[in-house]
Amino acid sequence: MKTSKILIHGDWIDSTSEEEIDVFNPSSGEVISKIPNCNEADVEKAVQSALIGFEAWKSTPAEKRAQIIHNAANLIRQHADHLASEVSKEMGKPLKSAKIEVINSAEIFDFFAEEGLRIKGDIYQYNYANEQVQVIKDPVGVVAGITAANYPIALLTWKLGAALATGCSFISKPDEHSTAVALSLGKLFLEAGLHKGIFNIISGNGVTGSLLVNHSRISKIAFTGSVAIGKKVAAMAAGTCKRVSLELGGQCPAIIMNGTDPEKIMEDFISQVFNNSGQHCYRINRAYIHSEVYDDFIRLLLERVSKLKIGKANEPDVDQGPLCHKTIFDQVMSHIEDANAKGARLLCGGHQIKSEPYTYFIEPTVFDRADHSMLIMREETFGPVLSIMKIDSLSEAIKYANDSMYGLAAFVYTPDAGLGLQAARQLESGVVWVNKIHKAYTFAPFGGFKQSGYGREKSSYGLDEYLEIKTVYLTLPTVE
Ligand code: NAD
Repeated sequence: MKTSKILIHGDWIDSTSEEEIDVFNPSSGEVISKIPNCNEADVEKAVQSALIGFEAWKSTPAEKRAQIIHNAANLIRQHADHLASEVSKEMGKPLKSAKIEVINSAEIFDFFAEEGLRIKGDIYQYNYANEQVQVIKDPVGVVAGITAANYPIALLTWKLGAALATGCSFISKPDEHSTAVALSLGKLFLEAGLHKGIFNIISGNGVTGSLLVNHSRISKIAFTGSVAIGKKVAAMAAGTCKRVSLELGGQCPAIIMNGTDPEKIMEDFISQVFNNSGQHCYRINRAYIHSEVYDDFIRLLLERVSKLKIGKANEPDVDQGPLCHKTIFDQVMSHIEDANAKGARLLCGGHQIKSEPYTYFIEPTVFDRADHSMLIMREETFGPVLSIMKIDSLSEAIKYANDSMYGLAAFVYTPDAGLGLQAARQLESGVVWVNKIHKAYTFAPFGGFKQSGYGREKSSYGLDEYLEIKTVYLTLPTVE
């Protein structure tokens, strides 16, 4: 099996590293490819290329940049089936969900292509005839995007789209378990007309990632991953005063108040718990359910969960595939053990489904009688596990919801929209959905409070993360 190449300055080259990483198909346990674990020399080549790329790209007219980004979006749509099959094979995501991720990524590029045309500054009209003070925005420079395995194209797209629209050049270091789709995106951008050096791709694990974070010529790190690694990235980046944006984990609460019709919200709710086998930063981890609807809600929930179809990612109509890799599997199983040991009531699931060796399927699992001493309520459980507590008032639910070091997303269901809005205002969370879980739109910012990170992605706020603010004091000639 050949080791994959890396993309440096428009050419597909071999890494100089002698270390390789096996990439598995988590549905079958087979090794499907090998990637190089890129070393310092590879990183240096990527940075030098990106520095040259930056000089050309920052002075390319915004309209031209937009055209190339739109071209790439169109190519993504044309190649959506292939890209989705790469995501599905490496990540274990059912094909239909992988296709949605790919199509959403094309939408993000289209959005940023246009948003890049709307970057604007200010002029202060201070009243001196020969002076003007301008505030203009410059691209930050070379950006390195380090991304997680669970949404391998979407997470890259959120960063790459904003970087390219603002005139930055980019080095991608995708997660070592799901690199293929990033490499394919590189091919499509070359076909779309992107010049050499503007988008470089290297592969590898955290060691390669840390080489990027420590490099003095990289101006910004756009990171998505766990809280633990995010903290390390922020600490390393401080050594060179780099800009950093951190999209980290969540432990997202849902509040279901009295008067809510379980039937109306159940499809929404279950998808937000079990989608992507629960490997989803803003999934519902814990639910606080009002005592008046508790029994009806649980009855319907268990009935629907029992109908979820578990299977290999490429089987038709599969709702839930395997977990992506062993580290995630071990973490989820340790949370289940902890909940059992601390007295939570297991309502369904709780076990590994054994199929092929080296595959990590876990039954959809629901606990109630959970409390905040348990890992399932305190730490992010990155798998198909839901934990439930009974509550008697909205204020009690909000208190529990905010009792967390995380603050990525929260969900509220209540027939009283006013109370829903009050809850949204009090929840310590970057995003709150009230009564329906819409798709997270391209124009709306996404990101967390507290240890779920800082910075925002998507939207015009996401673009700002890639821009420096420059103040120009201009002295004008006197008109004689
Ligand atoms: P992870 O933190 O283990 O790895 C993420 C990336 O960091 C990978 O590319 C990895 O190679 C790299 N990395 C590891 N060590 C590094 C180091 N020392 N220096 C630099 N880079 C390093 O994350 P994971 O387990 O693959 O991803 C799951 C996590 O990501 C979950 O916590 C999830 O909630 C979070 N996530 C957050 C969002 C969001 O938008 N907030 C979106 C998706 C995933």
